[in-house]
Amino acid sequence: MTTNIALRIEELQRELPPQTRLVAVSKYHPAEAIMQAYDAGQRIFGESHVQELRQKYEQLPKDISWHFIGHLQTNKVKYIAPYITLIEAVDSYKLLAEINKQAGKHGRIIPCLLEIHIAQEESKYGFTPESCREMLASGEWKNLNNVRIAGVMGMATNTDDETQIEQEFRTLKALFDEWKQIFFANEPSFKEISMGMSHDYRIAVRAGSTLVRVGSKIFGERNYIK
Ligand SMILES: *Cc1c(COP(=O)(O)O)cnc(C)c1O
Repeated sequence: MTTNIALRIEELQRELPPQTRLVAVSKYHPAEAIMQAYDAGQRIFGESHVQELRQKYEQLPKDISWHFIGHLQTNKVKYIAPYITLIEAVDSYKLLAEINKQAGKHGRIIPCLLEIHIAQEESKYGFTPESCREMLASGEWKNLNNVRIAGVMGMATNTDDETQIEQEFRTLKALFDEWKQIFFANEPSFKEISMGMSHDYRIAVRAGSTLVRVGSKIFGERNYIK
């Protein structure tokens, strides 16, 4: 049986250009919903709570690539370090250093994205462009041999003003281009720009997104009670 979830995955896969990959954001949705997307060929899933991800990781096929997209507390890194494919929202050097330490214990190199605060809204999370530039310029991160900085991630303001959303995404793309040139010129693995969610992924794709994080458009409203 082809389910609605499967149909929406197929639609999105058809719509996205080849340079943009789909992260199916499955937080608060049960394993059965994830399996419907999986059976439609989806392999990258995004989760934002450590405990929930741990349960799903145990239950679900091991060829799923899990992206951690939420705010990650340093004391929880150890639980996901053995298997996480990409940590998308690294918002401090301290967190990067902890991921490095935990990755080392498993002999892994964990790819990470730097979360940049591009929205007008107040948020506790994300580097400001200035603080991130400073962190990169300090060069300390080059000693962290068990993490790989693979790009940037950001969220636009939650607004209907598409011009503003587009401007914010273009800001993130410009920061990526700047840092690619200055700090990662010889590193092809610095390549990801994660931006765009259910309501604004089309704008993000136009602005150069390589990863879109789409949840409710695929799985519906998040009403799963754990
Ligand atoms: C929940 C979440 C998404 C998905 O949001 P939808 O609007 O449901 O597509 C994307 N990115 C992050 C960081 C999220 O926490």
